[in-house]
Amino acid sequence: MKVPKAITQAVKMEKHFVIAVHVSPDGDALGSALALSMALESIGKKTIVYSRDIIPVFYRFLPGHERITARLGTMTGDDPLLLLLDCNDPARAALEKNTFGKSIVIDHHNTGSHFGDMKWINPKAAATGLMIYYLIRSLGIAFDEDIATNLYAAISVDTGTFRYSNTSPELLLASAELIQAGANPGQIAKDLYETWAKNRFALLVMSLNTLEIKNNIAITYVTRNMLNKTQTKLEDTEHFSNFPRMIAEVKISLFLKEKSRGMWKVSLRSKGDVDVSRIAEQFGGGGHKNAAGCWMKGTLSSVKKEAINVASLII
Ligand code: 5GP
Ligand code: MN
Repeated sequence: MKVPKAITQAVKMEKHFVIAVHVSPDGDALGSALALSMALESIGKKTIVYSRDIIPVFYRFLPGHERITARLGTMTGDDPLLLLLDCNDPARAALEKNTFGKSIVIDHHNTGSHFGDMKWINPKAAATGLMIYYLIRSLGIAFDEDIATNLYAAISVDTGTFRYSNTSPELLLASAELIQAGANPGQIAKDLYETWAKNRFALLVMSLNTLEIKNNIAITYVTRNMLNKTQTKLEDTEHFSNFPRMIAEVKISLFLKEKSRGMWKVSLRSKGDVDVSRIAEQFGGGGHKNAAGCWMKGTLSSVKKEAINVASLII
């Protein structure tokens, strides 16, 4: 993978950066932003890592997570360069009302906006973390243990830890280099997959009990009531959408979570050639072929019906 020379050059020239990630940030967004912040600071640059939403508890093993802030603070006066990661529309990062001197978008999502003075959007890249790996290399910065851990975790999250079809020889070679630089695969897998709070697991059990399957489409959901009962938060549902995919006959898994009355966040997952980003786009969302997201409005039963109907059309 080649980093556009103009981007490496622009980053080299700049001193102040705001590194921003999308709302409800996942491990790829967070690991990428933290690794890039650490790498840039190691060569004397100043960075703010901006996320509107606080970092979920289960990502607080990522080295340097304390540097994530929801306040842009004083640096805006220095006219920082915005590095928008793992998304390509400032609205996805809740930054649509802010202005920046310059902006660079680094993302691997197909669907997107026209935003950015410079863009590096590579839908073939398995993870933004892999793109940041190449950017850091192109800047001539060495990977230390903390940078390597963040990048390895980012890549793990977006490849299902090297199980999804986006796992390539190139990605495994990069990951091997990150292990050599100090990333610990066993520890990171444990931190990612074996540290759930009991109440999060109780919520998963409840959600799995809502399973219905129609025309090879699985649908599960989580309501506000279920969150209240288990004392959990919406962010605890990350990965829930993946479970019904374990069933052989399931080609699409739809997972609904109730953000507020009548407002549902929909996570879509699929197998093989079934492209769920097309469904998400129809509702103003986006994502990848096998993992996408969007918002839908209505009652639980109306949203379920509508989502299943739209999904049936692409199977
Ligand atoms: P998840 O279902 O885990 O929230 O998201 C799956 C994928 O779809 C991720 O790559 C995520 O960035 C993308 N995605 C989720 N929600 C949205 C959305 O509302 N808009 C867009 N453009 N992409 C989304
Ligand atoms: Mn990603």
